[in-house]
Amino acid sequence: MKSATTVLGYPRIGPGRELKRATEAYWAGKIDAGALLDEGARLRRSVWEGLRDAGLGQIPSNTFSLYDQVLDTSVLVGAVPGRFAHLSGLDAYFAMARGARGVPPLEMTKWFDTNYHYLVPELGPDARFALAGAGDAKPVAEYLEARELGIETRPVLVGPLSYLLLAKPAPDAPDGFEPLDLLDALVEVYAELLERLSGAGAQWVQLDEPALAGDRTPRELAALRQVYERLAGLTSRPRLLVATYFGEVGDALPALAATRVEAIGLDFVAGPGNLEALASIGGLPRRTLVAGVVDGRNVWRTDLEKALGLCGSLLGLAGEVTVSTSCSLMHVPIDTEAEPDLDADLRERLAFARQKVDEVVLLGRALGEGHDVIAGAAVPSARPRIDYRVRARLDELGTGVRRPDRAVRFAAQGRSLGLPPLATTTIGSFPQTGEVRRARADLKAGRIDAASYESAMEAEIDRVIALQEKLGLDVLVHGEPERNDMVQYFAEKLDGYAATANGWVQSYGTRCVRPPILHGDVSRPEPMTVRWTTYAQSRTRRPVKGMLTGPVTMLAWSFVRDDQPLADTARQVALALRDELRDLEAAGIGVIQVDEPALRELLPSRRSGRAAYLEWAVGAFRLATSGVADTTQIHTHMCYSEFGEVIGAIGDLDADVTSVEAARSHMELVGDLRDAGYAGGIGPGVYDIHSPRVPAVEEMEVALRRALQAVPAGRLWVNPDCGLKTRGYAETEAALRNMVEAAHRVRG
Ligand code: GLN
Ligand code: ZN
Repeated sequence: MKSATTVLGYPRIGPGRELKRATEAYWAGKIDAGALLDEGARLRRSVWEGLRDAGLGQIPSNTFSLYDQVLDTSVLVGAVPGRFAHLSGLDAYFAMARGARGVPPLEMTKWFDTNYHYLVPELGPDARFALAGAGDAKPVAEYLEARELGIETRPVLVGPLSYLLLAKPAPDAPDGFEPLDLLDALVEVYAELLERLSGAGAQWVQLDEPALAGDRTPRELAALRQVYERLAGLTSRPRLLVATYFGEVGDALPALAATRVEAIGLDFVAGPGNLEALASIGGLPRRTLVAGVVDGRNVWRTDLEKALGLCGSLLGLAGEVTVSTSCSLMHVPIDTEAEPDLDADLRERLAFARQKVDEVVLLGRALGEGHDVIAGAAVPSARPRIDYRVRARLDELGTGVRRPDRAVRFAAQGRSLGLPPLATTTIGSFPQTGEVRRARADLKAGRIDAASYESAMEAEIDRVIALQEKLGLDVLVHGEPERNDMVQYFAEKLDGYAATANGWVQSYGTRCVRPPILHGDVSRPEPMTVRWTTYAQSRTRRPVKGMLTGPVTMLAWSFVRDDQPLADTARQVALALRDELRDLEAAGIGVIQVDEPALRELLPSRRSGRAAYLEWAVGAFRLATSGVADTTQIHTHMCYSEFGEVIGAIGDLDADVTSVEAARSHMELVGDLRDAGYAGGIGPGVYDIHSPRVPAVEEMEVALRRALQAVPAGRLWVNPDCGLKTRGYAETEAALRNMVEAAHRVRG
């Protein structure tokens, strides 16, 4: 006998990013809607058949999406904002995702603490929910499609509570309105959907409620009970699995257990405390526990012994145990077999989606048939690389390293750099032209040699420096032409870090990323950026700002080690950066920026974990930046406008200058930062680089004058709100010219 097995979801992009290719071909008018939908059907089929052939017990469906599962849900329940009403079908769908002539898209934001982005539902009090497609609603249609192939599946839905908690009030909603106010109406649509699924023959439905892994108010917990009591009370419905993931569910567990849902999914990887929580409510007798024991978010092989032991203890805490992944596998790449070039020892330690399905299946067998099933498959023999020198250096540095007083540095830098008030600069990257991208691809493919590549980069740097001089910027940058990505570039240069060839993961819509893998102790075999930065500096007498990616961001956009605390890995990356900063300084670079756009992203979803996180995050940044002289000016950059809980940490980072996204929040941030005790230089982005629009001089002048109410001119910097990589040269040049002019006018 074997135990039940399942996964909570599976990548939908296809092993060769087929979905991206088909969707982009459709957008470009190269294929028609029929061809796009056919490709979708082919991809769904290959996932279902693959899971079946792997021996997985219960196979999920409706995990496919042409763009995003939250967007699918909005369409499914009829939550389509009025501005899209004149469109229908795929036109409306993709307009909500990407905008259409004159109609802005839905806002996009991060799916909990992952690097997946969803489209934020926009809801007002007048929302009228209705099930789209009725009997042909997407989850029903995909269930039937699988059944035609002889595969019984469990449709997966975004749970109604999480859906509303992820939504934001429509722009015209009255004050005090919360999307949660719409719960009763929304639940009726889910009720209808469940009845239709039941009518189609579905035995089980999975309702995803990841919002339960965050701090929830009593009102929200009451809503949780109410929703699932209502749905569980339907007379004709499939059995209900409420899947929670991404952490510990705390008070939501007793609330959920008090309803009559048949199964509850718990994440034992991101939420080890779920075990105790489960025990403390006396387990789930007569119910199914879907036990997330295989990590759906990271790329390491499971310690099968340990996982089996955990499943064994869970057997005593539930009517039945289904072995599962901790969350959907959409957050990991598809197949380690597509990585023949990875170091063999490393590859042996990895499990991507396909391998994780095999692990789940194996654990299911072992749970039923006995431990022998996993003997031999249990632990990879290869181990992470240990670098004793790095460890010794970190021990010696300790955790308290920091620079001398801010005021001392301010004076020293004033003398060494001699910059005007309202100094102008940019955030680092300049537009990545086709030529630059081609040179990089040509080098990789061996079509050009290193020397021709270097001269192509130097030519680009020459052009970027000349442009900045012509525009009259005060602190220049080299433009980052040699970087495909701000994390991958460094990952490729550091030991203990590996890049994959095909390890694509969906970031949003058709955008996929290949997060590098932090797999061993990190060290820097040689300088990483000095060559380009010093070349740029050799072309100008104005200061050129060195450009590095900070330790937290290096972790946030990578797969991380799970055998040591994140804080330890962060310190290793920080040490490598510390050496790089020193090398830059020794090579004559007097201004260095260490970007931390992901600082807020890694903030734990529960309040209780935040202080500890901020402590190590700040410590790592200081470790990286405190090895330089007082005269060297350290900048940092963050790109989000709502700082919330991290605002206090900005000051603790102790950078000399901090540039932040502020163009869309009208400079309020400058005052907020001051109120939070930040006493350094501030560069509130004066224009939004996410749009090709060229802002007028007056507009930026107004923004600067507003900022001056909160910060003196000597500490105010003038810059756009993020890197210019995705922009074109024409608009960039025009916008920067206006920006410099605005700074001059205000200085005057
Ligand atoms: N220096 C980087 C750039 O300009 C910063 C990017 C970011 O903040 N995401 O591209
Ligand atoms: Zn940015």
